[in-house]
Amino acid sequence: MKKVHVFNAGPCILPQVAIDNAIEALKDFKGTGVSLISISHRTKEWEAVMDECRALWKELLNIPDDYEVLFLGGGASLQFLYIPMNFLEKKAAYLETGVWAKKALKEAKGFGATKGAEAVCVASSAETVYNYIPKGYEIPADADYFHITTNNTIYGTEIHEDIDCPVPLIADMSSDILSRPVDVSKYTVIYGGAQKNAGPAGVAFAIVKKSALGKVSHYIPTMLNYQTHIDGESMFNTPPVFSIYIMNETLKWLKSVGGVEAMYKINCKKAETLYNEIDRNSLFVGTAAKEDRSIMNVCFVMAPGHEDLQDEFMAFAKGKGMIGIKGHRSVGGFRASIYNACEQEDVDALVACMQEFEQLHK
Ligand SMILES: *Cc1c(COP(=O)(O)O)cnc(C)c1O
Repeated sequence: MKKVHVFNAGPCILPQVAIDNAIEALKDFKGTGVSLISISHRTKEWEAVMDECRALWKELLNIPDDYEVLFLGGGASLQFLYIPMNFLEKKAAYLETGVWAKKALKEAKGFGATKGAEAVCVASSAETVYNYIPKGYEIPADADYFHITTNNTIYGTEIHEDIDCPVPLIADMSSDILSRPVDVSKYTVIYGGAQKNAGPAGVAFAIVKKSALGKVSHYIPTMLNYQTHIDGESMFNTPPVFSIYIMNETLKWLKSVGGVEAMYKINCKKAETLYNEIDRNSLFVGTAAKEDRSIMNVCFVMAPGHEDLQDEFMAFAKGKGMIGIKGHRSVGGFRASIYNACEQEDVDALVACMQEFEQLHK
């Protein structure tokens, strides 16, 4: 296979061992003679995968007993609706740190309007294309919950701490889950699409505090009720077996490299390497506020006066095997997504490419 360096934002790079094991399982699932995608999800062989996957989530993130880990359809985008469905009674509060956060807020507002409840935005960084995380905002004490997006995939900003919150805290962690240790006990729900660190597209995860459920007065449609999926052990309807299988293999790999604490150190090193080069290299500048820089998505543009080199760098980097470094259209420039399975070696290759390009333009 061609040697490339994959910096795709999502779906993204996954550990090779997970892909290889999935290929084998597609041919013959655990020696049953049946393909992974043809086995019944009601077999003990499949249930063992579900159990192992749930157990790995709990172990890797140190998830307390009062929480359940769910595997659901509809991506993170359907979780935007699950949240108000399961928790909105009178008022919800949202921090608007990007378009994903804004989309989450839209669902809460829309659903809230059907029952006379409101969803408020406590702060937004929209006016500067979300290049920082707002601070010093006030969370209404009477809110049913406060929703944050911990990592803003498009803009490369991240909330690095598990914040103290006076009301139940809910987080979209689609793009930084499993990249760093998290104090799950501070959250009521943590959710996300799997396709950025946890596995392939096709499954979303939700880590739900069980005792927080059952408190709203409206009817919750069966499929949008977290309780349904807790009772059904994420098999109320047919689960996406292929996606869950690869997620399980991805978690096994993460455990084998030392778990989330070890991964966090590796991720910090990768991010530091790349940001140091962006700050040093005269041709590039970072777009996110320094204190809010993401360790997963690194956004940068050509430095002032060098904007005309953008297409040339893109082509140069492509020639060196760099894949997926085009920035999101709302930010422009470049974005290198350096998720868990992206290695230091890939980051080093990108840095070398930036240095070589600078030499060419001295
Ligand atoms: C990618 C992403 C989403 C959307 O995920 P889907 O699974 O495609 O719905 C939501 N939030 C964040 C932070 C993301 O990065």
